[in-house]
Amino acid sequence: MNYQPIMQGIFEEMQKEAPLGTVATYIPELADINPDQFGIALLDVDGTHYAMGDSEKRFSAQSVAKVFALSLALRHAPDEVWKRVGVEPSGDPFNSLGLLEVEAGRPRNPLVNAGAIVVSDILLSVCDNPLDELLAFVRAMAGAQDIAIDEAVAASELQTAHRNRAHAHFMRSFGNIHNDVEEVIGVYVRICAIAMSCSELARAFAFLANQGRSLPPSFRLDARAIRRINALMLTCGFYDEAGEFAFSVGLPGKSGVGGGIAAVCPDRYSVATWSPRLTKGGNSYLGTRALARLTTLSDSSIF
Ligand code: GLN
Repeated sequence: MNYQPIMQGIFEEMQKEAPLGTVATYIPELADINPDQFGIALLDVDGTHYAMGDSEKRFSAQSVAKVFALSLALRHAPDEVWKRVGVEPSGDPFNSLGLLEVEAGRPRNPLVNAGAIVVSDILLSVCDNPLDELLAFVRAMAGAQDIAIDEAVAASELQTAHRNRAHAHFMRSFGNIHNDVEEVIGVYVRICAIAMSCSELARAFAFLANQGRSLPPSFRLDARAIRRINALMLTCGFYDEAGEFAFSVGLPGKSGVGGGIAAVCPDRYSVATWSPRLTKGGNSYLGTRALARLTTLSDSSIF
């Protein structure tokens, strides 16, 4: 399928959309961004790459990067992940502490903050250098050796990460965090602070669309792990708006408060959008609109 006319059409439509939503400000470094940017990139499983708008500008991946952390943890220690983290949607905001009390410190899923903090703790226990290994993984998949952690974003979030520290301390009180809390939060915040463009994210998510064929040889994952990651993205990738995303877009995907969304249509394509204005649930407004148009125009909802 030639996606070029569809991509062009979506780009033009998005220029006309009302500027709804606001940028995330609780991480001070993210508050200064020009909110009216929009990029989209799509990688067909046959290797054809399409891109429009601000598709090559790097932005803060934030929670989109939780998928890379989970993938790496599943490669090293799948049993440990599923022992310590659940697989149910939370129906709660990404940073909600509520369910942790009722569920004795076991996060609902690996894509809410609590779950990604446990995944970061597991990576600290099983990798010699979790951040170097994660960056090597992401760089190899995206085909860009200069992808890096934006240390200014990480430092900024570390100053305000009281809630994430509260998560980690609380889970530690139940025995579900094994390493020093400050070290775990340092890894978690730096994973979120990886800066990537839409084109790089579309390439890096390709393995979830092509049954793992694009994974570098040293990072192989089996088909079951890939199916499970896609299942979790569909049910948990957009927090308490996961239902809305499945309803209007119909693809497994993951959002971040930097305004990015990466999604996959298994056996067809991987796609990423970026636009910093967010819904109340912390998901990109225009990104969601654009992906809804994409699945409509290319008849590619998984349902
Ligand atoms: N680093 C952010 C946080 O922990 C990630 C949140 C997000 O992108 N939803 O709050």
